[in-house]
Amino acid sequence: MNIAVEKVTSSKINEVDFDNLAFGSVFSDHMLECTYKNGAWETPKIVPYQPITLDPSSKIFHYGQSIFEGMKAYKDKDGGVWLFRPLENQKRLNISAKRMAIPELPEEYFMEGLTSLLQVDKNWIPENDGSSLYIRPFMFASGNGFHASPADEYKFIIATAPSGAYFSGKVRVLIEEKYSRSANGGVGFAKAGGNYAGQFYPTQLAKAKGYQQVIWTDDNTHEYIEEAGAMNIFVRINDTLITGPTSDRILDGITRKSILDIAADEGIKAEVRKISVAEVVAAAKSGELKEMFGAGTAAVVSPISGFGHQGTDYDLPELENSYAMQLKKRITDIQYNRAEDKFGWRYRVI
Ligand SMILES: *Cc1c(COP(=O)(O)O)cnc(C)c1O
Repeated sequence: MNIAVEKVTSSKINEVDFDNLAFGSVFSDHMLECTYKNGAWETPKIVPYQPITLDPSSKIFHYGQSIFEGMKAYKDKDGGVWLFRPLENQKRLNISAKRMAIPELPEEYFMEGLTSLLQVDKNWIPENDGSSLYIRPFMFASGNGFHASPADEYKFIIATAPSGAYFSGKVRVLIEEKYSRSANGGVGFAKAGGNYAGQFYPTQLAKAKGYQQVIWTDDNTHEYIEEAGAMNIFVRINDTLITGPTSDRILDGITRKSILDIAADEGIKAEVRKISVAEVVAAAKSGELKEMFGAGTAAVVSPISGFGHQGTDYDLPELENSYAMQLKKRITDIQYNRAEDKFGWRYRVI
């Protein structure tokens, strides 16, 4: 594929303080852009990072056809550049696209487009320990008209942002029993922008009560815990790690499935089954609840220090050797090319 590259006249890279990077707020020099028009995706091109001009009637504004992915590029100590299971993101983007009636993108447009962009902006991939280049592929309806129907034009864009080590500290969470993130037959399994919009208000309410995040429960009975904010959730009861099964409502996270494979490899007993709120509360009361953590690309694991449920707060113990940190180390050692990759998850870009 012949991807045209229009380079910036002068790079912004010298203005960036790579030792103090907030998450996702400084953007690299270039972006990949690809347009769907007249029934087909055009060849992607690389252009300077820039604003997008859209007609006020663009369907993205009114009907929310918008999906995204989140991934990272990692630089090893020899300057090698790696992705982690990128084809999983590519496949999931198309799963999300299909559900939102957005045309699917050919695999090579995603993979060749992404690797070309990383080659052009390779100097933006941070080298500091724990830093990475956060990659945000997204797709939205750019076609016009107030008619409530799928658009006839779309954009696929990949923008990237150098990011420092992501550690927010342990979080206190609230088990949510009124609002739902997703429902059977809905779009919870898709990385659709609207799923996030719908989470913000209940999360604001939880924050006002002193929690940092919401634990979503199933929409029907609110008896089963399903996700931690925008991350998959893991619970450790005694020595068993448990996570819920993917479904219409639970997103098929790449970190989640990598954790399950690594747990099996490390001899950690893991179960994929429904986790009831009652079981978690009982285990917290008896002291058998050892850990809870979210799992997702940005933080890999996000440990939970305690949770609120129906007006009562429960604290989790401080563990010396948590599964969360053991699993995070195994995954990040693979991502940064510091350890053997027996699963074949690393993907070399440079
Ligand atoms: C992206 C996301 C995850 C985590 O997926 P990863 O592939 O591990 O980054 C989990 N839950 C939701 C709702 C998400 O949007």
